[in-house]
Amino acid sequence: MRAVASVLHLDLDAFFAAVEQRDKPSLRGKPVVVGGVGGRGVVSTASYEARRYGVRSAMSTREARARCPHAAFLSGRFHAYRSTSDQVMGVLRSISPLVEPLSLDEAFVDLAAADLAEHPGLADLSLPSVTAFAEELRTRITEVTGGLTASVGIGTSKFIAKVASDLDKPDGLVVVAPGTEQDLLRPMSVTVIPGVGPATAERLRRAGVHTVAELELLSEDELVRLLGKASGHWLFNLARAQDDRPVVAEREAKSVSVEGTYDHDLTDRSLMEHLLTRQAGDVARRLRKSGLSGRTVTIKVRMHDFTTLSRSSTLASPTDTAATIGRLARGLLADLDTSGGVRLLGVGVSGLADWVQEDLFGETAEEDEELPEVEVPHHSRRAWAPGMDVEHTEMGRGWVWGSGRGVVTVRFETAATPAGPVRSYAEDDPELSPWIPPVTDEPE
Ligand SMILES: [Mg+2]
Repeated sequence: MRAVASVLHLDLDAFFAAVEQRDKPSLRGKPVVVGGVGGRGVVSTASYEARRYGVRSAMSTREARARCPHAAFLSGRFHAYRSTSDQVMGVLRSISPLVEPLSLDEAFVDLAAADLAEHPGLADLSLPSVTAFAEELRTRITEVTGGLTASVGIGTSKFIAKVASDLDKPDGLVVVAPGTEQDLLRPMSVTVIPGVGPATAERLRRAGVHTVAELELLSEDELVRLLGKASGHWLFNLARAQDDRPVVAEREAKSVSVEGTYDHDLTDRSLMEHLLTRQAGDVARRLRKSGLSGRTVTIKVRMHDFTTLSRSSTLASPTDTAATIGRLARGLLADLDTSGGVRLLGVGVSGLADWVQEDLFGETAEEDEELPEVEVPHHSRRAWAPGMDVEHTEMGRGWVWGSGRGVVTVRFETAATPAGPVRSYAEDDPELSPWIPPVTDEPE
C-alpha cells in the first residue's frame, strides 16, 4: 500500500455491448446482448438496458432471451473489440510506461511512474490533482473510442483501485483517499477480495465470516489453518488493504504447458492422442486454478532423431476447457509425420489473460463444446451471424439483423451514419458479402 493514491484502474462499461451500440446506431439506448447465440450459448456482455431485465454475463443465452426477448442478440465482432481496446490502451500508455492490461477492457495504470512534466493536467499525486486528471482521462477515452464510457478507480494499491472503479459504474470515478481503505472495505462481502471465489467464500461462511470486517477479526494463524498457508496469508493482508503488488507493464508471454518424455519411442498414434488428451486435461486444470485462459494451443513433439517440432493453432476466443485444448492438440498432431517414433509430447496454452467475468466469449464452458478457430474467420464461412458486418454493392455497409429460411435481413448503418433502413435478401445474393475490416498492423 502506497502513501498516495497513485494506482489507477480503468474499466470500460459493458464493453462488447457498448462497441455494438456505437457501430449500430439503431441499438443505442436499447437492450443488447453479446455472446453465443446458438443453443448452448452464454452471455458475454449485456448492455445496461438489458441488465435492467436481469440479463447478466455468464447466463445462458436461452435464459437471457426469456428475460429480455426484445433485446438484440449478437454473436460478437472480435476485430472491433480488439481495435477499440488498442485505442484505449494507447491512451493509457501515453500517460505512464506502467500499464497492465487485465483484459481487452480493463487495465491498471501506475501514475507514480508518469512523467508529471509531460502531463500538465497531473500536477502532482494529491487527491484533487489525480481526481481532475482522471475526469479528463475519461473524457479522452470517450473521444478516442467514439462514445464509449469508462469507469475509473484510484487508490493506494491495485486492490483498492479495482474495488473503487466498480463502486460507481457505469461512467463513474471514485478516488479512495489514503487512510480510508479499511473503512471502505469493512462492510463489504469477503468476495471483494481477489481470489475469494465461491469455494473460499463458503469456507469462510462456515467459520461465520461474511464481511471484510469479520475477516479482520481472524488471526493469521486461524486463516492459515482454515485456508492453507498462501491463501491465509493473502487474505490476512488484503483484509487490511495491505497490497503491494506492483503494476507490471509487459507481462512475460505467459504460457501453461505440460510435457512428457518417454523411455521408448512412441509409434502408436492412438496412444499419442490419448497422452495429448491427458496433458490437455492437466493444462486446463492449471489454467482454471489460476483463473487464466488462453487463445493459442501449441503442441511440442520431439522425434526419434531429436528434432523438435511445434505447431500451434489460435482460437477466436480464449479457452480453459480440456476438451477444446485436447481437440486442437490432436488436430495439430494429425498434421505431423510421426511414423519414425516420438520421444517427447507436450501441450501448452499461451496468449493468456485473466479473462474472468465478462469474457466468457461465446460458448458454454462444458466439456464438449466446439469453439471456432481463428484460421477460419466466421465471415468467410458465409454464415450470416447476427451482428456481423456486411456490405451490399448498392446499399453500402450494414450488419446482419437476422437470418434463416434462406433469407438474410440487414440493417444498413454504421457508427458514422444515423439509424438506417432494413432490407432482406436471399442468403446467397451475390450483391451481399461479409465486410472485412482493413488490415492494421496489429502487434500480434
Ligand atoms: Mg468492463
